[in-house]
Amino acid sequence: MRHETVRHDITVVGGGLAGVCAAIAAARLGRTVALINNRPVLGGNASSEVRVWVVGATAHGNNHHAREGGIMGELFVENQFRNPDGNPYYWDAVVLDAVRAEPGITLYLNTDVREVDADGPKDARHITAVTGWMMGSERLIRFESELFLDCSGDGLAGALAGARHRIGRESRAEYLEPWAPEEADRITLGSTLLFYTKDAGHPVKYVPPSFAKNIAETSIPQRRIIRSGDNGCAYWWIEFGGELDTVHDNDAIRDELWAVIHGIWDHIKNSGEFDAANMTLEWVGSVPGKREYRRFLGDYVLHQGDILGQTEFADRVAFGGWSIDLHPPQGMYADGDGAKQRYADGIYHIPYRSLYSVNTTNLLFAGRNISASHVAFGSTRVMATCATVGQAAGTAAALCAAQGVAPRALDVSALQRTLLREDASVIGLASDDPDDLAPSAAVTASSSLTDFGVGTLLERLPLTSDAGLVFPVDPELTGLDLLVDAERDTELVVELHDPELGQNYVPRRLVDSVTVPVAAGSKQWIGTGLRWAPESARNAFVVVRANDDLALYSTDGPAPGVLGLTRIPLDPRAESPQPLREWTDAGLLRRAFRFRAGGTSAYAPAKAVDGYARPYAGPHMWVSEPLGEDGGAWLELAWPEPVTLRRIDVLADDDVNEDLINLHHHRTPFDTLPTLLRDYRVEARDADGGWRTVSRTTDNRRRRQVHTLDEPVTSTALRIVVESTNGAASAHVVAVRAYA
Ligand SMILES: Cc1cc2nc3c(=O)[nH]c(=O)nc-3n(C[C@H](O)[C@H](O)[C@H](O)COP(=O)(O)OP(=O)(O)OC[C@H]3O[C@@H](n4cnc5c(N)ncnc54)[C@H](O)[C@@H]3O)c2cc1C
Repeated sequence: MRHETVRHDITVVGGGLAGVCAAIAAARLGRTVALINNRPVLGGNASSEVRVWVVGATAHGNNHHAREGGIMGELFVENQFRNPDGNPYYWDAVVLDAVRAEPGITLYLNTDVREVDADGPKDARHITAVTGWMMGSERLIRFESELFLDCSGDGLAGALAGARHRIGRESRAEYLEPWAPEEADRITLGSTLLFYTKDAGHPVKYVPPSFAKNIAETSIPQRRIIRSGDNGCAYWWIEFGGELDTVHDNDAIRDELWAVIHGIWDHIKNSGEFDAANMTLEWVGSVPGKREYRRFLGDYVLHQGDILGQTEFADRVAFGGWSIDLHPPQGMYADGDGAKQRYADGIYHIPYRSLYSVNTTNLLFAGRNISASHVAFGSTRVMATCATVGQAAGTAAALCAAQGVAPRALDVSALQRTLLREDASVIGLASDDPDDLAPSAAVTASSSLTDFGVGTLLERLPLTSDAGLVFPVDPELTGLDLLVDAERDTELVVELHDPELGQNYVPRRLVDSVTVPVAAGSKQWIGTGLRWAPESARNAFVVVRANDDLALYSTDGPAPGVLGLTRIPLDPRAESPQPLREWTDAGLLRRAFRFRAGGTSAYAPAKAVDGYARPYAGPHMWVSEPLGEDGGAWLELAWPEPVTLRRIDVLADDDVNEDLINLHHHRTPFDTLPTLLRDYRVEARDADGGWRTVSRTTDNRRRRQVHTLDEPVTSTALRIVVESTNGAASAHVVAVRAYA
């Protein structure tokens, strides 16, 4: 056995997605990082050891333009390229590769942190080291750092340090949460084991083990969906332990979960109710996926009102969008539904103050253990959200280490600026990076898209329910025409709504409403006469009221920022109102209704330097007219005086409206997002007015390319020349940044 002491700027305990993203973020900012995980595989619950699929703010497509950016966005896009079918082992490799790509990270797998050296009074604890046992290697390693991040989910390291935390549910009165119980208690969400099955191609018998539970004696067959052929997260409801202690009773919980899995499989194979003769068990989890344990106390506790009210924190550093998703304490044995969900009107913000300890001066946290009430945790706990929080906390730790300040003393605007520069998303905040010379340039382009009317006419869509159409109004709407069929003479009722918040895609404030007579006939352009001049560019949410005598037409390839939606009635058991749930793009994904809305500046060249790098009240990107055979679209940044540049960042459009997922939930039909630039050149203007290539990218499949120039370039102009995309008709550039 060996005793070792290692020292890094930052120590991250826990290699789930929160810890992984925290470590990568800190390492990219030049810090040395120890990333410690007590399992041999990174990813936590997303790893092939547990196999929970990674969801986040898109909430399976309920939220629009909501996919995570930053490191989580990179993981989604890379996984889609390498692993579009959702193989859990390929996903493990994507995550491990991302960590291994950072020379600043030293990875300690199989290393269980179980001792903490901390001192100081109760209100100002300070961690000097944590110690972990590396299983299989007989190494007892002491990790010393200035800053520690507890991203372990369970939060043992922080707890041993004396960091204040909660386990269980707060009382309703504590944060005035309607979904909290009257009295505080120790109830948590339970844990789960998942399983995979496969068709062996020949009959396979199944002899249940002695410990299999007879599920016919439980309410499971009546209350839960059991289908032969379902795998993994389809069985999220195999949940147990909410009334126990999910850590100290972990082994007993695992045994109960195994018993039930084998009981379910016995039911599928041997009850005669399923067509499952050739089916066999391919994999059964053995590491319980834990949903909930300790939640640390920060300077702020995010709560239900913040999620549903979308509180716009000045110190927002991350975002979420999953519903508040709480499960009954009895888990799979509950008589009622397995989950109760409620959505905000759009994605919500997470403040920095929820990411550092209220009483441990050098402790930050990320993941399911952040400073949120049990009810708010019901939403923040999903892994892509944990990952964005991880990037924020890791970035904060890196800045604290560089500046020698405690997390509480960190300048939040510097943190936000760094996050945006690293291409993380802080919703509704424009970058104001003083080092970026791009915003001071005059921006022109070979062409820009000026209308929405592209795409092929697809099908006739009877207006049996209300239709929704979202498009950017920039700077004003001077008329809206819809392509309509009418069975007989009738009236078209159209409303124009302001979604109010830039990240929302629901009708919130009625701006105008018109009723237009329509004569019988097909494929008629009907002018609504709707006009709108908002104070600043924003999205319009147009509602076309249902009318059985009318039909609209769908079109493919809608311009960025355009959405087609229909309204489905809310499940009567769900809390109302939840407009986000009612307005769905089901059947209209990557489509819209055929419409004309005059000219638009929404895709103008200057959008590439306006500080926003994701949709917010508009698409915020330059889009060219459709490219010719040999591409040739260009975007030019020109300065009145020569500038010297060493680094140019190009952010391509990774279409954050596309709901990517790491495992088998759904199959997105392309490996590389078509809107991403494929081949392009960065050129600088020479003194004689000619253009010189300073960097060229081919076969690109990423959103963010950082072009660090071999030699600094001094020039009055720079341009991005797009040769080809990964399938989109036009060139899309979200942002160009230029640094000396
Ligand atoms: C069955 C189930 C279904 C769920 N459904 C979804 C879903 O569909 N999509 C979704 O996105 N989220 C879902 N969640 C929630 C989500 O999985 C968790 O909230 C999320 O994994 C938390 O991420 P994390 O990085 O904070 O922690 P974890 O994923 O738990 O990762 C923590 C890591 O730290 C390690 N660790 C713990 N203690 C120590 C220690 N002392 N020393 C060293 N390492 C340590 C653990 O081994 C683990 O690798 C579900 C959870 C469960 C259990």
